[in-house]
Amino acid sequence: MSSQSGVPLLRVKKVSHAYTATAPALAPVTFSVADGEFVCIVGTSGSGKSTLLRIIGGLLRPNTGEVWLNGELITEPPREIGFVFQKTNLMPWRTALENVLLPMELLGPVGPQQHREALALLDLVGLADFAHVYPAQLSGGMAQRLVLARALVRRPRLLLLDEPFGALDALTRERLNLELLRLQTAQRQTVVMVTHSINEAVFLADRVLVLGEQPGRILAHVPVRLPRPRSLAVMGSQGFGGIATEIRRHIGLVEEEGY
Ligand code: ADP
Ligand code: MG
Repeated sequence: MSSQSGVPLLRVKKVSHAYTATAPALAPVTFSVADGEFVCIVGTSGSGKSTLLRIIGGLLRPNTGEVWLNGELITEPPREIGFVFQKTNLMPWRTALENVLLPMELLGPVGPQQHREALALLDLVGLADFAHVYPAQLSGGMAQRLVLARALVRRPRLLLLDEPFGALDALTRERLNLELLRLQTAQRQTVVMVTHSINEAVFLADRVLVLGEQPGRILAHVPVRLPRPRSLAVMGSQGFGGIATEIRRHIGLVEEEGY
């Protein structure tokens, strides 16, 4: 499945949405994501980040505008998109391994090869030792990692992540960020990720979209020209600090004439 040449993998064209007539959640928003690109979306709470992601994933119809994935108009959730929400939606009566196997079962017969793939995905997210554990026995962070593994089963062209690591402790979060980077490098995984952590966005992304609120709209596209592969050490670099400050300025967290 190669991208049609010259066509970005994802095109969001003048997409807007209002849940109620008086309060538009999302103003017309337009942007593209290239094949293999990692884009992070940051913005204050209520700026329409989740709304935008649900529209891209085909879970919510926009009031206006269109979303195109690899040249095809999205009208329902496409198989090529993997989604990780803020809240986990695991099957409580299935073990971790069985939860990862579920999307495979929907695709066809499940044998030793599928079991190996599922175990490899559990290993990827650090849950190799928890394959036979039920979701209720997992911490919130582990459950979220399980959801990530399950989202990767179909090798999605586009992975949509909505604050997936928000509930995790800082060290687990850093580890998962490194794994996400490894995934992106190894598979050239295209990712659009919503996060409320500016540092996380700069660490992971090729480009950061800054959303403003009432109604949600793009305030800035900030390119992250930090070399890859990246290690945690990049966070201490001057370039990193400069980009993070630029994003804070767009959001309004830094005074223009602060010093
Ligand atoms: P974010 O993810 O950036 O916090 P959301 O996309 O969840 O923002 O919400 C954008 C705006 O739309 C907010 O004002 C929110 O209150 C409103 N909103 C979100 N979901 C619904 C819904 N199901 N019904 C009504 N209003 C909603
Ligand atoms: Mg949200």
